[in-house]
Amino acid sequence: METVTPYKEIIELVHENGGEAFSRCFQCGLCDVVCPWNRVRQFSMRKIVRQAALGLTEIESEDIWLCTTCGRCPQHCPRDVNQIESGVSLRRIAAEYGVFPKSVTPLKTVRASLVSEGNPLNEDRAKRADWAEGLSVDDFSEEKEILYFTGCYFSYDPRLKKVARAATGILKRAGVDFGILGTRENCCGESIRKIGDEELFRRLARENIKTFIDNGVRRILVSSPHCYHTFKNEYPEFMVHFEIVHMAQYLNELICEGKIKFSKDYPKVITYHDPCYLGRHNGIYDEPRDVLNKIPGLELREMPDTRVDSLCCGGGGGRIWMETAKGERFSDLRLQQAMDTGAEVLATSCPYCINNFEDSRLTLEATEKMTVMDITEIVAEAI
Ligand code: SF4
Ligand code: SF4
Repeated sequence: METVTPYKEIIELVHENGGEAFSRCFQCGLCDVVCPWNRVRQFSMRKIVRQAALGLTEIESEDIWLCTTCGRCPQHCPRDVNQIESGVSLRRIAAEYGVFPKSVTPLKTVRASLVSEGNPLNEDRAKRADWAEGLSVDDFSEEKEILYFTGCYFSYDPRLKKVARAATGILKRAGVDFGILGTRENCCGESIRKIGDEELFRRLARENIKTFIDNGVRRILVSSPHCYHTFKNEYPEFMVHFEIVHMAQYLNELICEGKIKFSKDYPKVITYHDPCYLGRHNGIYDEPRDVLNKIPGLELREMPDTRVDSLCCGGGGGRIWMETAKGERFSDLRLQQAMDTGAEVLATSCPYCINNFEDSRLTLEATEKMTVMDITEIVAEAI
């Protein structure tokens, strides 16, 4: 009896934290067949599900932190086990008990930074709008047509600030009446929720929602698919609704309306990587390709594992903040696939993908062969 009680407790904890769907699994193993981890090392979502259903989860194990929430296995699961939400339930338990394996310890700093500064990068909140210095970007006010919610990585990361600056240049040229919230903006909270810190997610979300309401925000433009996903699909849990537009959609809209015109040829071969949170999680596959195909002179080539089958970069589910061993990074595989197409530019539309691909360019010594760009930067160069 002494051993049965803890098992029962784990099962109860799993259920309390939203993992009751684990019990539906009939161990077909399809999740393991499609999971990108099995291209680089052994990993079994099927086993995690089995152990959780029986109350045998090893909360201290690294395995519960590996899932990138890429969305591949939920699409194939015949029993609707909701591997992502169920997996997050295990992380919630581990986070509650403060049990983190070594590769996951950076999360403590991330959390502290989110609490004190509203961003995961240990950056000063007061500097959140510094990326826009010299660009004469307006503060958002109620009269503005659209809010450009810049997001943490585009606000602070030196590589990604260039994307935010490119976006601003395009919006101004297209005559869009937009503004930014600057220091009033908080992290959207998407990734912290996926690592199991529900309380902090709710706090960040509530603060953002209050700011949106207080400032009369109706339509929100984002460059990150993670902001897009959480504003569109998760903030409605708080009984609010804003119109959310991803930059790939908006650029396409502006081109179709004739507000963006291409003034020169862009004679480059480009391949496009579908970010998981733009593609699989939100079905936005065509707009980024439509944008690229409208640029004169540009040739778009497809990689294997594209659109609904896109190979994850490895950055979702909070993995962007964790250590991934050399030889186990999906982004290295993806960059190689991109190079194999003969393209000179790997285009995408997500800050995590860009970060990971930039790292892979160094790892694979491919800096001469391949450039990584957000589609916003490509459009900015072609107008
Ligand atoms: S695909 Fe679904 S039913 Fe099959 S093993 Fe994985 S979780 Fe279980
Ligand atoms: S969501 Fe993606 S990374 Fe996570 S277990 Fe499923 S296939 Fe693997």
